[in-house]
Formats: sequence, C-alpha cells, structure tokens
Amino acid sequence: MLCWGLFVRGNAKIDKRVCGMKQYKGKSVFDGIAIGRLYVYGRKNQQVKQERVKDADQETLRFRKAQRRAIGQLAGLYEEAIKTVGAAHAAIFEIHQMMLQDDAYAESVETIICTQNVNAEYAVAVTRDKFAEMFAAMDDDYMKERASDVQDISQRILRILSGGELDEIDFKEPVIVAAEDLSPSETAQMHSSKVLAFVTVHGSVNSHTAILARTMGIPALVGTPVFLDSSLHGKMAVVDGDTGFLYVDPDHETLGKMREKYKTFLAQRELLQTLKGKETITRDGKKVLLCANVGNDKDLDRVLENDGEGIGLFRSEFLYLERDTYPTEEEQLKIYKTVAKTMGEKRVIIRTLDIGADKQAAYFGLPKEENPAMGFRGIRVCLTRPEIFKTQLRALFRASVFGNIAIMYPMITSLKEITRIKELVEEVKQELKKDGLPFGEPKQGIMIETPAAVMISERLAREVDFFSIGTNDLTQYTLAVDRQNERLEDFYDPRHPAVLRMIAQTVESAHREKIWCGICGELGGDPELTKLFLTLGVDELSMPPENILAIRKIIRETNVKEEGEALRKEFL
Ligand code: PEP
Ligand code: MG
Repeated sequence: MLCWGLFVRGNAKIDKRVCGMKQYKGKSVFDGIAIGRLYVYGRKNQQVKQERVKDADQETLRFRKAQRRAIGQLAGLYEEAIKTVGAAHAAIFEIHQMMLQDDAYAESVETIICTQNVNAEYAVAVTRDKFAEMFAAMDDDYMKERASDVQDISQRILRILSGGELDEIDFKEPVIVAAEDLSPSETAQMHSSKVLAFVTVHGSVNSHTAILARTMGIPALVGTPVFLDSSLHGKMAVVDGDTGFLYVDPDHETLGKMREKYKTFLAQRELLQTLKGKETITRDGKKVLLCANVGNDKDLDRVLENDGEGIGLFRSEFLYLERDTYPTEEEQLKIYKTVAKTMGEKRVIIRTLDIGADKQAAYFGLPKEENPAMGFRGIRVCLTRPEIFKTQLRALFRASVFGNIAIMYPMITSLKEITRIKELVEEVKQELKKDGLPFGEPKQGIMIETPAAVMISERLAREVDFFSIGTNDLTQYTLAVDRQNERLEDFYDPRHPAVLRMIAQTVESAHREKIWCGICGELGGDPELTKLFLTLGVDELSMPPENILAIRKIIRETNVKEEGEALRKEFL
C-alpha cells in the first residue's frame, strides 16, 4: 500500500490514496458488501446554473413545452384528487394550474430568456425568487401563502426541464447510488433489484431513508464525506456495510479482500438457512412471533425467503410516496390483496398512512412546519382529511376478505383519536354494505410510539385488539431528540432505560387487558435486546426480513427463566 495522503473535510477524516483508490468513512445503516458502479444521483433542478444560449427562441419554446406539460400534469392531479380527496383539497392543483397559465409568470421567464440569452432553468429560477419574494412581502395572509405555491410550480417546471422527474429514475444495471441526501420518497422509488447499495453524504441513521435501506436489505452508508461530482459517475466502487467504508476505484488488493469478505458474509447467511422452518421458541418454551417490516409488495419474496412468520409492519405510506397522485381505492385494494394472498394464513399488519415529517409527497400539499416531527403527521393527517383515510380503510376492509389482514393506526396519543377512528370505520362499513361490496372484520390495533400512549396504555388496551411499539418515534419523543438530526445521533439512544421501561410498561398494560404486544420499531431487530424483550414478555418482534433468522437463533438459545433477572438489572 503506497502513497497515502490524509485530508480532512468537515469533522471527518478521509484517507486518500493519491494514486487511484480513495476511501471514505461513513456511518453504516445496514451491513453487507456491495461491489459495483457508482450512480451519482442529483436533484439537478436544485442548483440551477446560469448558461448562455445561442438561440433564445428555441429556449423559449423549451420553456413553453415544459409549461404545457406541467399544466397537463396538474390537470391530471386535480382529476385524481377530486375522486379521492374531494374538491376542497383538490383545489390546490387548480390554483397551481392557474398560476402557471398566468401571463405575468410566463412573460417574466420569457423576457429573461430573450433579453439575457440565458437558459430556461435560470429564467424560471429567477422568476420564482422574484415572485416568491413579492408574495411573501404582502400583508394579506392568503397572498403571503402563495409564495410557497410559486416555489412549487417552479419546481415542477424545473424538474421537467431537467428531465429529472422522479418517476423516470431507471438504472440499466444494478448500481451503488450515491447522493447528497435522499428523501424517503426518492428511496421508495428505487427498486432493490436495481440498487446494490446507498451512500449519502448527509442523513441520519434513524431516518426513514435509512430504515428503507434496511427493509430493502441492502448495504447503506450515511454521513459519508465524499465529494460528489459527475467524475464519480460510473466509477467502480465497494461499499462495506460492516466497517462503513466506501472505496472508489478500489485497487486490486482491496477488491480481493472485499470479495473474500462478501463470500464470508454469504456463508454466514447460508448457515442461518438451517433455521428455516424451525420453531421460534426459547429453551424454556416461550414462543414469539418473528415478523417482517416491509415497504411494499415487492418485499414479499424476501419475507418468505427469510421464513418470516407474518408481516408486523407494512408501511403503507410508501405506496403514496412512490407516486405523484393519491392511490385510488382499487389500486390500493390490488396491492393489499396481493400481500394478503401471498402471505396466506400468516398475519399481515398494514399500518394506515403515516405521512408527514420527513415523509412528504408534494401532492398532499402539507404545510411547511417549524417543527415537523411534532407536527401534522400520522393519524392527525388521516383524521383531518377523512376522505383520504376512508379511501384507504375501504381498500383495507375489502382486502381483508383475501387473507389475514390486521389494521394498525400510527401516532396515537389519546382515546379521543380512537373514538374518532371507530366512527370513521363504522361509516366505511355502512358505505361498503350499501355499495354491496364484501369486506372482512380485520383486527385493529395501534402503534405505541408516543409517551402519552404509554402512560395511558392500560386504558387504550381496552379499546383495541393489539399494540405494536414504535421504538423509533418513542425514542425521539421520550428523549426529545429529533431522529432526523444527524448532529444528535450520539444523543439518540433507543436503549436508554427510559425507553426500555416504557416498553416494559406497555407490555404489562397489554397483558393486563389480555391483548398482545409486539415491537415493530428498529429495536425489534436489535440482537443485543432480544433476550430482554423475551424477559419482558413481548409477543411479537418485527424487523427487516434479513434479520429474522439471526434473531431466531438467539431466541432458540435463550432461557428466560434463568437469564431474566440479570437482564432486567442490566438494562432497566
Ligand atoms: C417507529 O416509530 O418505531 C415506527 C415503526 O414507525 P416509523 O419508523 O415509520 O415512524
Ligand atoms: Mg413511527
């Protein structure tokens, strides 16, 4: 190994080998080794460059074409939204269409193109800033709000101009995706068969993007101090999800080592295969259900391959995030039905739409918030926009005829919410009856992921069929640490005794009221805590499919009666 240099970017050290290979240390989100070419994914429209153009007329035509396309998209969104969420919420798409048709906006863009001989992207960005500033400065609250609409419509045009519309992400061969950051909706649109690994410069290990990578079962690094420019595109690279290293242009020796490590990794996985079909039971006879967390129906194969005993968390919001319009009842029914049928008698817990905070889809038009984790998200969105919620409930109740579906409601904090959910469920059932559509009687449970829900868990347990503890949010709200904030990672400690005691309390409440209690947050797949959870009496653990067999191994080696007391002392 020759010619190593050392330089520092931000707080992180980067070892750099001057001739050839470079290596960068990130934070690993999921282990495994990936070897392949880098695909530098950029939101091209975010940094708009000013470029001179030779033919301003041609550039004007390019803008007009993008403008027409954006208006067409908005018309489609409006039609869809009318059907699924009603006229009041659909109105935003009509307003955006009108703004785009407004002469002042188009005139500003075209004047900039023609007088300065610049590219359409730049003209749109300048117009966006000018108009947004103008609206923001107005006294009238309604007009002030239009500032964010100008941003939205401009963003749409920029996306079209750059050809970077999200639904067009398509890789010809499986690649290692490298990006500054990835939103959950961007990650959701990348299919695991096309992506070998994710590497991001920013991002927290507790974010939904990280969770998605785990659910997809591919190595991923966040906080990797790599400078992303187009020269990296297509370069050979290795991601080591064990140590957190990214190697770009790996030398012969490193590549050889990584291939060996990959073989060992596969061999270890292979060893676990012997646990397939074996019971998940402790040495002293305690049974636990080992289930999988999934983001969509494409993950089902991996659940079955890893012998998942059910699905403990189907994050249905990803169905909404991977598209540009609200999924209709029929579209949702098709997916839920596939999941139910594929899993047969095994239970499938589908969590209702948990959108908001970091999980954003532009077409929902959710307000920008100062404090999104504490904001308009989860059940709050569903209860405020019952049209969206009822469409999903109709699909879920109908799909439950085809298998063992259970419904789970996220972000619960009060009994009042449960009462309202029950009223809406009743309305849905009456409407389905009236429409002559068959439906089942799925079990209905809630996520316990707020301290409020823990504190009233005994009371809540009388109202629902089951609990599933969301340790990701429970940690965030208990410790007052934003799970998205990469600077707070050292303070985000899901193994904190406060969190673990909340889990203990929730399980006790559930059992006192004779309902079962599982864990579907990331802690459910934490091998360090499996024995403790058995001791606390947790009935179900749900985790990324690839973790299931390793956790089964631990469970089969545990004796709760013998080890329980020491574990309580150590952790609580
Ligand atoms: C959780 O909060 O633990 C959970 C499972 O939900 P999510 O991570 O999707 O917020
Ligand atoms: Mg949550």
